[in-house]
This record gives sequence, C-alpha cells and structure tokens, in this order.
Amino acid sequence: MPETNLPKDFESQMLELLGQAEFEQFKEAINKPSRTSIRLNSAKTFSTSWPKSPIPWTRNGFFLDERPSFTLDPAIHAGAYYVQEASSMFIEHILNSVEIPKGIYLDLAAAPGGKSTLLSSYLGDEGMLVANEVIQSRAQILKENIIKWGLGNSIVTNNDPEHFDPLEGFFDLVLVDAPCSGEGMFRKDPQAREEWSIDNVQLCSARQKRIMDQAGALVKADGYLVYSTCTFNEQENEDMIRFMTEEFSYEPVRISLDADWNIKETEVEAEGKTYYGYRFFPHLVEGEGFFITVLKRSEEAYIQEPKRIKDFKHPFLKEVFNRESSDLDEELGFDGIGKYYTLNDSYFRISKDWNLHFQKISHHLSLKYFGVEIGKKQKNDWIPNHEWALSILPKKDFPSHELTEAESIEFLRKNDLELPDLPLGWVLITYRNLPLGWIKNLGNRVNNYYPKEWRIRM
Ligand code: SAM
Repeated sequence: MPETNLPKDFESQMLELLGQAEFEQFKEAINKPSRTSIRLNSAKTFSTSWPKSPIPWTRNGFFLDERPSFTLDPAIHAGAYYVQEASSMFIEHILNSVEIPKGIYLDLAAAPGGKSTLLSSYLGDEGMLVANEVIQSRAQILKENIIKWGLGNSIVTNNDPEHFDPLEGFFDLVLVDAPCSGEGMFRKDPQAREEWSIDNVQLCSARQKRIMDQAGALVKADGYLVYSTCTFNEQENEDMIRFMTEEFSYEPVRISLDADWNIKETEVEAEGKTYYGYRFFPHLVEGEGFFITVLKRSEEAYIQEPKRIKDFKHPFLKEVFNRESSDLDEELGFDGIGKYYTLNDSYFRISKDWNLHFQKISHHLSLKYFGVEIGKKQKNDWIPNHEWALSILPKKDFPSHELTEAESIEFLRKNDLELPDLPLGWVLITYRNLPLGWIKNLGNRVNNYYPKEWRIRM
C-alpha cells in the first residue's frame, strides 16, 4: 500500500465510514492524479479539438484525455467553457431529472462560479440567478466568470448570508455549496491534508449550520434547497440534513441514478421520513469527493412576491423608464424585453420579467454586477463595454474581425496589434467566431480595449 500521509484521525473516520476493504481502495485512488474536465457553454457555439469523453450525468460536461494550458486557450477567455471537476456537475442531472421549475435562484456561496455558471445555463432566458459571495476578492473573480459566461441572467452580490433576511420565502431554489473541511480535495490539493483536523471539521459544521439556518428561510413554498460539500464526514453532510429537518419543514427529494455511475445514495431518517444524500468517492467515481442533497420546502411555507415600487430610488443606480428601455432594445436589436438602468452613465440591461425581483434585491444587497453592461451613449454613438462583447446579446452593426490563435493571445495580453485592412472605429474581435473584446481603429493606430485587470500575464 502506498504512503498516503493522511491525518490519522481522518483515516480512522474513513475506515469507519467505508470498512477495511473499501478504505484500501479509497487510499489507492486518493494518490492517483485526478482527471481534468470541462463544461461547455451551450449558449456559445464552440467545440474543442481535444480528445475527450462525456461525463455520464451531464449533457455538457467532458473529461479531457490530457490537461491543456487553459490560460493560453483564447476560448476560455471568451466563456466557451468552464473548467470544473466532474462530481460537481451532478447538479445538472438534479435540475434536469427533477425538472426543477425555473424562476429566481440563489447561489449563496458562489465564488469562483462553477455552480453559478451551471445554474445560469439551466435558467437561460426563463429565470434570474443571484450569485453571492461573502469574500470581496472572491466576489470579483465570481463577477469575472459570470461576465465571461455571458448569459445576462445573473446578479452578482457581495454579502454575508445574514444580509438576506429581508428575502425570506423569495427564491425558487437556493444552493449552498458550503465552505467545508475539504476532505474530497485531498487528491487535487495536498495542502488540504495538512490543514485538516477534527477541530476544523467541528468548526466547519458549526459554520454550515449558521449558513443553513439563514438559507433555509429564503426558499419559498414548494421551492428547493440544494446543499453540497466537498467533504466525506457525516457531521458536515448527513447531520446537516437532520439539522435542516429539525429547524424547517422540508420534504425529501430522491434523485434517479444509473447504477453504472457508482454514486452512493445515503439515507437519513428524520422527522419520520427518509431523506437522501448522494456521495461521490474517488475510488468509485471519476471525480473528486463530493456530497449533495436536495430538499423541497413544504407547501405551507411563506412566499414573498416582490411588490411594485412606484418611485425606484437607489444611491447609485438610475432607472431608465419603460418607453426609453423599449427604444433602446429596438435601437440595439435585442430580442425579448429589456429593462435598463444607468450607473455612472453606463447602461445595464436585465430582462424586464425579473425587474421587480431585481429592484428588491438592489435595495437590500451589495451589487457587484447585474444583467449585461452595454456601454455609454454619446449622441448617436455607443462606446461599447467589454461585458457586452462577451455577452450573447447581438452587437448592433459593429464590424468584427477574426484573429488567429497567436493574435488572440496578443490581444488577451493587451499588446498592440498590427491589423491591416481594418475598418475605422470600434471593431469586435473574435476567435473561432467567439467574441473576445473590442479594439478601436483610429487610422494611425489601433487601441486594444481588453480590460487591464483581466490580461494574460503568462
Ligand atoms: N460554489 C463555488 C463553485 O462551484 O465555484 C464554490 C464555493 S466554495 C466551496 C465555498 C464558498 O463559501 C467560498 O467562496 C467561501 O469564500 C464562501 N464562504 C466562506 N465563509 C462563508 C460564510 N460564512 N458564509 C457564506 N459563504 C462563505
């Protein structure tokens, strides 16, 4: 048996959970390299040439035969795919197999955004996602990933779960991918082994209870609560189901599984009912350690519908009225009905269907981003924003210019480009037809408008 340098208390815990024979398989698996996987953005047309195989519980997820240099692939900067480990993508199967109704969703612990981009894809133009992250620097990364994904159906916030108090009974689905002791990451991240201790497991469990005590109240009647961790111990997993059923009235949800997937269903008896959790072990599944459970809020619970606000007032956002909003949609050639706001004279667009929800959220939470930032209007011209380039919205009548892979890397490094035969003015830069950003051709020089803070430094 290979040396594992696993904490002794962790070994005892896993031995108890798995039994001797399976524990030996687990130890072997945890020392093997993990497989790289990506999830394609179905709203952006793209296919990879890398050898790959499908992840069985997903429609858009693939294992790659080898790990490429993602940073040097322009397509990742265009939001064509997200690098995500395979077990986490099981959420896609939950959403599709349970046919969870679309609506207003919350991802309460969202950075860097793997599960948020998945939820955003599921919702498409039939819902709105609030992607929240409490740590400010991580909220910035989350915002960047939401912008690259480009669906325009998300609001990024930077709040502590406690700040959500006024949004009780507001959400159709709340996901809590909780901060945890990270036992499932021992393979990918050997440092996680060093940081592990029984005390830390207890600390994590107490913190998860505080978060879930908030999250449980935010789901409306008949809505869904999804809880996940990347750890194996029962305190942070099954015990959380027990805790939630004691605190709130939630019904069990059982997920259909294909036996070949080797995902372990675990049962929790609570309040006279059987609840279910799903466990991913690295010796059984080609993915990292993961736990997930789904609960359905009882039909008697509270539902909070957002009310119409007559005079919307906000410290920094200005409302663009409906007439002007529909004129903008027509001028810009956008489908659907948008609602616009300005912030420092820059126009943002969200779907009008979710405007009342947005207004309520903007009053109570710290907004980092929402919908799509289009840009500024100067007389009859638009100064387009980078966020618009990356969104799936049409790009008016701006000309576009396709770059080679090498040129795209230069563009993403924010270097100067020499591009002959370019039309004057704003030009949308594309790589394999995926928009990457804007340049402006002034005639005697070409300005590269790739955001400085996003540039590739490799
Ligand atoms: N869902 C993310 C994804 O798929 O990319 C990963 C989320 S990670 C497991 C947990 C997140 O919870 C971290 O971003 C962390 O900053 C955040 N977090 C830490 N403490 C928290 C707290 N007390 N309440 C809410 N979130 C917290």
